[in-house]
Amino acid sequence: MSELHKLEGKRPFSLTQLPTEGKLYHYDRDVAEEEFKALRKELREWQTRLYAEGKQKLLVVLQAMDAGGKDGTIRSVFQGVNPQGVRVHSFKVPSKEELDHDFLWRIHKVVPGKGMMGVFNRSHYEDVLVVRVHDIVPEAVWRPRYEQINQFEKLLHDTGTRILKFYLHISKKEQKARFQARLDDPSKHWKFSLEDVEKRKYWDDYMAAYEEMLEKTTTPWAPWYVIPSDQKWYRNLAISRVIMATIKEMNPLYPSAEGDFGDVVIE
Ligand code: AMP
Ligand code: MG
Repeated sequence: MSELHKLEGKRPFSLTQLPTEGKLYHYDRDVAEEEFKALRKELREWQTRLYAEGKQKLLVVLQAMDAGGKDGTIRSVFQGVNPQGVRVHSFKVPSKEELDHDFLWRIHKVVPGKGMMGVFNRSHYEDVLVVRVHDIVPEAVWRPRYEQINQFEKLLHDTGTRILKFYLHISKKEQKARFQARLDDPSKHWKFSLEDVEKRKYWDDYMAAYEEMLEKTTTPWAPWYVIPSDQKWYRNLAISRVIMATIKEMNPLYPSAEGDFGDVVIE
């Protein structure tokens, strides 16, 4: 189940052939929500173990078009985990200082340490997406980044980090509906920017950039999952399934007591 949306092998494909409709994969929203809540409860327990063990690291990367559901995923899937053991990082337009360094500098600084779970809301992948589509740097600069990213992620993997990458796949129609909802509700205006409307004009270019990115950077050590995300309830379930299956495989263990506490008396 958890491997349903995993990309296999490095072959070219078209995103238009991969469904954005989660309901194609699940017959009932209520049933899906029940399973999701049970998984979320499990995630809280297993995240505590990961933290208590203090050895392994888990990195979750979220990429999507604007209004694709990155923030909602973080809010829903990670609700209730111990904030001490989970760090969320949102990557914005790079600062002057960040631009003065290589594109992975700001990323490497905040990858999870031992026992930690890191969640990236956008990531180093922006450097082959927005940067490519809007010609922020020439192709001779962004093209080698696929390989640089693969090597970087290999390094993280080889030093104890499990990496899961999710592309939240929504349709152009669904993006329109979500933008409209943001416009119609003043309490959602803060999520809306005119820049988003501008970027929507480049939808096809973004899809092409995503396709090549997914093809070139899905590796055995850092696979991509293309999650049908038009229905939030399915998206949450599909992502939770992958994260839970992965943590269980990592199997973090509570450390045994240092010494024998059998005779300890608390006065
Ligand atoms: P938001 O996620 O809505 O807060 O928006 C963050 C903005 O930062 C988006 O428009 C991203 O495309 C942009 N951004 C993130 N990383 C980069 C990058 N490396 N280069 C250029 N723009 C970026
Ligand atoms: Mg935005």
